[in-house]
Amino acid sequence: MQNDYATITEGFAVDYPMAQPSSVKLVLFNKELFEKLELNWTEKETVSYLSGSSCVGGISASALAYSGHQFGHFNPTLGDGRAHYLGTTQGKDIFDLQLKGSGATPFSRGGDGLCALGPAVREFVMSQAIQSLGVKTTECLSVITTGNDVYRQGYVPGAVVCRVASSHIRVGSFQYLALQQEKSGMERLLELAIKRHYPQIQSQGDDRVCDFLKHVCNTQISLIIDWLRVGFIHGVMNTDNCLVSGETIDFGPCAMLEAFDFNAVFSSIDKQGRYAFGQQPNIAHWNCARLAESLMLIMEDDEEQALAKLTDVLNDFSKYFNEAYHIMWAQKLGLPDWRDSDNELLSELLVLMKNHQLDYTNTFAALTSLAINKEGLFTLPAGLNEWLVKWKKRISEFDAAEVATLMSKANPAIVPRNELVEKVIEEFYEKGHSPLLNKWLPLLKNPYDYQEYDLVFTARHSKPETYQTFCGT
Ligand code: AMP
Ligand code: MG
Repeated sequence: MQNDYATITEGFAVDYPMAQPSSVKLVLFNKELFEKLELNWTEKETVSYLSGSSCVGGISASALAYSGHQFGHFNPTLGDGRAHYLGTTQGKDIFDLQLKGSGATPFSRGGDGLCALGPAVREFVMSQAIQSLGVKTTECLSVITTGNDVYRQGYVPGAVVCRVASSHIRVGSFQYLALQQEKSGMERLLELAIKRHYPQIQSQGDDRVCDFLKHVCNTQISLIIDWLRVGFIHGVMNTDNCLVSGETIDFGPCAMLEAFDFNAVFSSIDKQGRYAFGQQPNIAHWNCARLAESLMLIMEDDEEQALAKLTDVLNDFSKYFNEAYHIMWAQKLGLPDWRDSDNELLSELLVLMKNHQLDYTNTFAALTSLAINKEGLFTLPAGLNEWLVKWKKRISEFDAAEVATLMSKANPAIVPRNELVEKVIEEFYEKGHSPLLNKWLPLLKNPYDYQEYDLVFTARHSKPETYQTFCGT
């Protein structure tokens, strides 16, 4: 492993010791992911490194600096307040390893730097589920309890999570360097980001910067399209939680959409609905604009010209987003191509779903089960009958096998249902392990299988109006 952030600028990666656990227990481990990392650690070393008990091969653990817009308000000094970067792997694919809950750092500002077992389990389950749904995401290698209690509403067991990411370069990382007027630091960060994520960029000078922004915009578009496709609500799309790689990061207040509603919000602190389900495209665009502003620092042209070039890139966001958006709905509806009248077919369905509070996943899963001749696997909701006639007529224009393939790839049968995630967390608190997760995980790993499911795994929340999420740490 190596440290890729040490040379960005002084203060960008701050070496800082990790909190020492008193007794470690590995409670969750992603073996397939560990194999992908190509690390030849012994079992003992693995637990020692992933609990923060020792640093990896001579690399000091460090906390990374970043700024960020939180709910639209700029915070210049965020940074890893409860996380330590361990290093970057050097196998075929390159990954950062970072511990979360590994103790206070110079960025903690009064926070304890720790993580409770519940949010650690949530991160493991959600990231595994989101990854299996085919959405770009950071992954979770392990959850280790530390033997130290942490104080939240009361005392609860503390845990350390190991996050694996293709990088930890955030929009907020660029904002931090822009704020410091760190021109050469930003150039180094740009080169690291290009090397890691967009090696196809060959241009130089201002074009290179603009091409980078273009690629980030495109990966953000793909990411948000996938979130919308599977019904994921991130909940806290602050610029510090926006990676230039286009991976999902931070699963604190996230939730899955159940009753269809573009205005759905679950996070207790998102009072204005800034990060509501249907707001996510606008926010991704807004975050990309904050990246563009930061990149102004390293543009060579005069200010007006530079601004015009970056603005041109940003202006394409909506066009590309809308193209991808139509393709997404076409796939969800089983339409190999999209014509104008399909807009009406779609909006009629969405209005019906909203008015009848239909479950997003189960409605599309029921349509898919019709298309793949597994009728009955999911019950078609009442209220759709008239619409169904129109939809069946439209898909009959295409090859049935093609329709079936499109739909079964776009519409998951299994998603990480909010109530089940909470039950798994409860079991971990009560028993230290989760029999429910043991049964559920194989299904979460194969969400497009369309087999007979125990109702437990497809039922929506029993008291949806009560469900809230928290930026829990
Ligand atoms: P997040 O909401 O997870 O994106 O975190 C926002 C900021 O708050 C980051 O700078 C975190 O490092 C910091 N933070 C969150 N929880 C804690 C904690 N328990 N102790 C110290 N800092 C924290
Ligand atoms: Mg964060």
